[in-house]
Amino acid sequence: MSIELNEKIMSDLSSQLKKKAEEYFDYMVSVRRHLHKNPEVSYKEYDTTEFILNELKQMGIETHRPLETGCIGVIEGKPADRVIALRADIDALAMDEDGEAKHEFKSVRPGAAHCCGHDAHTANMLGAAKILMDLKDHISGKVVLIFQPGEEKLPGGGRLMMESGFLQKQGVQKVFGLHMNPNYEVGKIATKTGPLMARPDEVEIEIYGKGGHAASPHETIDPIVLAAQVITQFQTIVSRNINPTEPAVVTIGKINAGSTYNVIPEKVKMLGTVRTFSRDTAMLIKARMEAILKGVVEGAGGRFDFRFNEGYPAIDNEETCTQKVMETAKELFGEDQLIELDTPIMGGEDFAFYQQEFPGAFYFLGSRSEEADSGWSWHHPKYNIDERAFLTGAALMAGLALKE
Ligand SMILES: [Zn+2]
Ligand SMILES: [Zn+2]
Repeated sequence: MSIELNEKIMSDLSSQLKKKAEEYFDYMVSVRRHLHKNPEVSYKEYDTTEFILNELKQMGIETHRPLETGCIGVIEGKPADRVIALRADIDALAMDEDGEAKHEFKSVRPGAAHCCGHDAHTANMLGAAKILMDLKDHISGKVVLIFQPGEEKLPGGGRLMMESGFLQKQGVQKVFGLHMNPNYEVGKIATKTGPLMARPDEVEIEIYGKGGHAASPHETIDPIVLAAQVITQFQTIVSRNINPTEPAVVTIGKINAGSTYNVIPEKVKMLGTVRTFSRDTAMLIKARMEAILKGVVEGAGGRFDFRFNEGYPAIDNEETCTQKVMETAKELFGEDQLIELDTPIMGGEDFAFYQQEFPGAFYFLGSRSEEADSGWSWHHPKYNIDERAFLTGAALMAGLALKE
């Protein structure tokens, strides 16, 4: 085939992808609103799973359910040794939303809310599925649509999906995934090669002292004073133990102690998070935390419990897959819609588990606009998206599976 002809087919395909995304825009909006109204927290996505399975079946897509919640659709194209996986996450957060701006579709399930945009990821992928079915003649090989549960909660639905072995059996060669991003204008695509999102680990700490009367501190071991020293010393880990060119964060996000103003309590409980881009750095921080606890707490005659719960690996975008995202985005929407990021962000994502075995790329889809009041950060009770993101999102996602 001549280069000119090839280019013509490509640009025809690009315009078809965009047209199809427009055609299915209302469908995606209604799916997103249905899911938004009926959110289910991590690993409890039973109704959501049934809903997705039903949609896929109606599209004539072969379905699988390797885990208790979440599911997979497989689209068979022309016989070829090519298997591309696309991933969406389907779980909601265990929180209440402020649904004032979303009154028509605000969560009807107390304690559950789609404030991370996973409802939109699912809708976007179902839209992409419809597009792919319409353009099936252009698919070489197979497209595997992953609707995974539990992104928000350890161990991570991505991990469970990988451990199920289903994707390996399908022979997946590359994997792509996206996240709505309230920091970018609706429709923008942002990504980078290499590290994109951090490795989030969790820490749980209890410091035990000896309680007593606040007026007789000499007869106690004050765990609050010890906790204060521990937290202050933790701040020296990143500034004094980590290579300055290596990004890292140590945050204590929760601290609980005591009951009233004149009692020295028995213990202090703290929760925190550690963000890094490599396991080695995470393990160095873990060791330093433990050493500080030992020095401060045991030095004062107290004792402590320390748990370091390893979270998701860091998102590390493989070069050719990332190029593919950028090229396809440019081809579809022009250079202006693409933002090539310089630095990673410190948030975490369990898409990283797929990248442990398959080359893959993760990218952000801008969802911010004034009209939709969708600049609120992820996990904020007012979090919202501008649904026009689907026009870009579904066309790009389908394009990644279609185009060579
Ligand atoms: Zn989230
Ligand atoms: Zn998320």
